[in-house]
Amino acid sequence: MPNKPGYQQTIKYKEYRRRYRQRPEVKARKREYAQSYEGKLRIRNYGRVYRSNHRFYLNEKSKEQYKKRKTLTIHIIQEIYEENIKQYGTLTCYLCLKPICFGDDHLDHKIPLSRGGNNEKYNLGVTHKHCNLCKRTRTPDEYWLSAPILKQSERASAP
Ligand SMILES: [Zn+2]
Repeated sequence: MPNKPGYQQTIKYKEYRRRYRQRPEVKARKREYAQSYEGKLRIRNYGRVYRSNHRFYLNEKSKEQYKKRKTLTIHIIQEIYEENIKQYGTLTCYLCLKPICFGDDHLDHKIPLSRGGNNEKYNLGVTHKHCNLCKRTRTPDEYWLSAPILKQSERASAP
């Protein structure tokens, strides 16, 4: 029965799912997951993944670009965060090299999507909300050229 096409759209199935979600052990599991590091990261990034994967469904040309590009997944985001922490010791903005508080983080495309960048791991970095918004559609090098706060020595060690 579950393999029948369209089964997941039936009222019967939806009713089953609704009851399932209301079971106390399922609710408890969900709460526990929401408290965990992985859960927090996942919940926080749902919108981000969705927007990144849908923003180019706007016109025909964008559709083509979108098809060619790898989709952004929660696993890639998780790897980027983990590698950032491994590299700097704590979650750190790769643009200004200062630590980031939870909730103030943004995911930056080093080469912006609008300029042909993609969702590969090497093109993504964790930044402050503020730093990412200041960078806009520039590349990191273009950004650093106009960012006086960052010293030359710090720039050299930035990835
Ligand atoms: Zn920053």
